[in-house]
Amino acid sequence: MKFKLAIIFIIIFFTKNSLSQVLPETTLQGSLIVGQLSQGDQITLNGNKLKLSKNKYFVFAVGRDELGPLNIAIFENKKLLSLNQIKIITREYDIQKINGLPEKMVTPDEEILKKIIADNKIISKAKLLDLDNVFFKKKFLIPTNGVISGVFGSQRILNEKPKSPHRGLDIAAPKGELVYATNDGIITLAEDNLYYTGGTIIIDHGHGVKSIYAHLSAVDVVNQQRIKKGEMIGKVGSTGRSTGPHLHWGVMWFNEYVDPQLLISQ
Ligand SMILES: [Zn+2]
Repeated sequence: MKFKLAIIFIIIFFTKNSLSQVLPETTLQGSLIVGQLSQGDQITLNGNKLKLSKNKYFVFAVGRDELGPLNIAIFENKKLLSLNQIKIITREYDIQKINGLPEKMVTPDEEILKKIIADNKIISKAKLLDLDNVFFKKKFLIPTNGVISGVFGSQRILNEKPKSPHRGLDIAAPKGELVYATNDGIITLAEDNLYYTGGTIIIDHGHGVKSIYAHLSAVDVVNQQRIKKGEMIGKVGSTGRSTGPHLHWGVMWFNEYVDPQLLISQ
């Protein structure tokens, strides 16, 4: 990857008074943008109204493949206050092409496909929730101790079929290593056995922002449980489709995944 992620801080806070100065002119693909407006103001992203909290917080994600520019309009009592453009800095992702694999390894059989479809329904339900909480405005923490073994955005192309890009960060750690909540939130999914992700937890941080923890050997929370940032939620494992013990940690805004590394780097 071309970018040195450590030097880029991507949660960008800005307020109306200094909006035009502080609003970034550029941002990276895979970033999460958080801001706060004054009372009475509204904001649109490419013409779509963004949800505002009671205290006027908003959030949106910049997708892995977003090319931009993003058009941000701020309104005061329905009158246009400012128009801003955010240019997108594109990234180079690691693409691996593997050909000549037996077809069975590339396309799941019917029985497995049924399980995958059922799992996806459960995951989608949690992903599409739009809760009013604003837990996302706190800084995120890295949810386990270990070594980064897979980065956001990488992709494998098996027998010419592009697989889904890697939608999170892999942290290799011994089985049983404790996993902590990356931020405050509500548990909206706690499953022991999903086909791809095995033991899986989703925490909802509000306004469509959630974090997902996969391949867990233990899921130590229940659905609807209120959770605090840094609280233990489960244990590292290698359940689901996994080649060794690691935590897959993802962060998304509805269906758009962002790069967790950008949330914790500073
Ligand atoms: Zn992963």
